[in-house]
Amino acid sequence: MSSEGEYLQCPCGKVYKDPNEYKLVFVKKEQCEIDIMCSNPACHLKELGYVKFKIDKKHRKVHVEIASFYSPYVTWNNTRLGKEKAMRLLEEHLRYIVEKRIDWSRIARDAPPNCEEVLEIREEVKE
Ligand SMILES: [Zn+2]
Repeated sequence: MSSEGEYLQCPCGKVYKDPNEYKLVFVKKEQCEIDIMCSNPACHLKELGYVKFKIDKKHRKVHVEIASFYSPYVTWNNTRLGKEKAMRLLEEHLRYIVEKRIDWSRIARDAPPNCEEVLEIREEVKE
C-alpha cells in the first residue's frame, strides 16, 4: 500500500499533505458552523468544507452534527486520485480536524446560546 506522492489538492493548486494546513474559522456563529478554508489567499473557492455542531453545556460536551467537504473539493480529488483513495484521505482529514484541530472548549465559550442543545425532560404537571 504505497500512497507516496498522492495527496489531496484544492482546485487552486494548493496541496494538502497534512490536515494542519487548512485554515479554520469560526465566523458563522449563529449557524454553529466552523468553516474549513483553503490557506491559499488567492484561492477562488476559499471554503472547502464545514463542521456543524451542537453544545451540551450542562455536560460540557460537543456533538458534531456534520463534518463535510464541499463538492468542488471532493470532485476534484475524486478525479485526481480515484474515488476510493480520495474518500479515504478526505475522511482522514475531517477526522483529524474534528478530533485534533478544533479547540472545542474555546468554541463552546464563543458559541451563541442557539448552539446549545436543548434536551428537556419535563414532568407534566396538571394544574
Ligand atoms: Zn484553494
